[in-house]
Amino acid sequence: MSDSDSFYRHIAQTSSEPMGLEIDYAEGCSIYTKDGKQYTDFISGIAVSSLGHRHPNVLKAIREQIDRHLHVMVYGEYIQTAQSNFAKLLCDQLPKNLDRVYFVNSGTEAIEGALKLAKKSTGRQKLIAFHNSYHGDTHGSLSVTGRRIYRDPYEPLLPNVFFSDFNSDDVLDIIDESTAAVILEPIQGEGGIIPAEKEWLQRVQKKCRDTGSLLIFDEIQTGFFRTGSLFSFQQYDVVPDILCLAKAMAGGMPMGVFVSSSSIFEAFKVNPPLNHVTTFGGHPVSAAAAYANLSTLLSDDFESKAFHIEKKSREILTGPGIVELRGRGAMLGLELESSELTAKVVRNCFDQGVILGWTLHSNSLIRIAPPLIIDNELLTDTLKLIRKAIQTAIQD
Ligand code: PMP
Repeated sequence: MSDSDSFYRHIAQTSSEPMGLEIDYAEGCSIYTKDGKQYTDFISGIAVSSLGHRHPNVLKAIREQIDRHLHVMVYGEYIQTAQSNFAKLLCDQLPKNLDRVYFVNSGTEAIEGALKLAKKSTGRQKLIAFHNSYHGDTHGSLSVTGRRIYRDPYEPLLPNVFFSDFNSDDVLDIIDESTAAVILEPIQGEGGIIPAEKEWLQRVQKKCRDTGSLLIFDEIQTGFFRTGSLFSFQQYDVVPDILCLAKAMAGGMPMGVFVSSSSIFEAFKVNPPLNHVTTFGGHPVSAAAAYANLSTLLSDDFESKAFHIEKKSREILTGPGIVELRGRGAMLGLELESSELTAKVVRNCFDQGVILGWTLHSNSLIRIAPPLIIDNELLTDTLKLIRKAIQTAIQD
């Protein structure tokens, strides 16, 4: 049986039209398929491979770690160098109140942990989230995801979740003394690349402070220089109480974290002890990869690289068919006039060896999120190819 037969017969499918690329290997900004084709990965595996695929520093760290140990114990019992090193390096980049890291395996698990932590540390149940948000597909994170078509088939979900419009002051009326947490993405990703307004976010934070509610930022997609700064909250002058990270964190290895203060994390130690544990969270190979990934990101000017991607995109992606280019840094969404036009352009670029994508909640938007290491020539050529594909599709 070929790999492809097995994929279609034995691997659970999540759509009737998977992209179905048969991968041979990946390197830098390129993915190579078994039929000898080369594709430019212009979406970084959905905002994961910011350093490109198989960055040498990440590979070296993985090799060194597998020669020492793999999993040795469930979360939180043994002292493991890879975890300690990464936790320290991460906290060194963060404000004082974000000084404790809880390791998990994915984005959705980071959200699950953050919601539980907020409930237990405040002793409150009410959660506030936003329409159009996306926080993951397990039951807790789905409960705070703001699209009914995804939630409805799985009801009943968590009770006491209230949704408000993003960037609207309506939310200020529902944050109160019974609110455990408000959860949001500083730039809604799957909802269509929609940035929060700075002053609005500051008002939300103030209301959280005034009522003793915690503010959770889901920076799973925006983190690690994707939007220019290391974390998006730095551009808003708003520090969250709990920060969730994953995706680009471990250079292509699976890992998530939620970060908060030692006082908030006290809630996980007591009544009863071990009330939130995980077998694989903080896997040493992922932690070693994350350390190498973050050290590499910090050793160069990735802020400028992300803003250069935005500048070039804004220069080149103009003209007929284009409604708007939204977002910040290398987290951009190109809104075209119709979903038909978008589908044609994505198909045409794919046929020419460029992988683009859509977002989960919007099918007229093209996601632009190349690896941050992309050189100027490949960036410019690819953006021009996209513009040409739009022109061709309009003339068809
Ligand atoms: N939050 C956001 C903002 C995301 O973009 C995603 C993944 N697209 C998740 C949470 C869930 O992460 P994971 O797929 O690793 O569970």
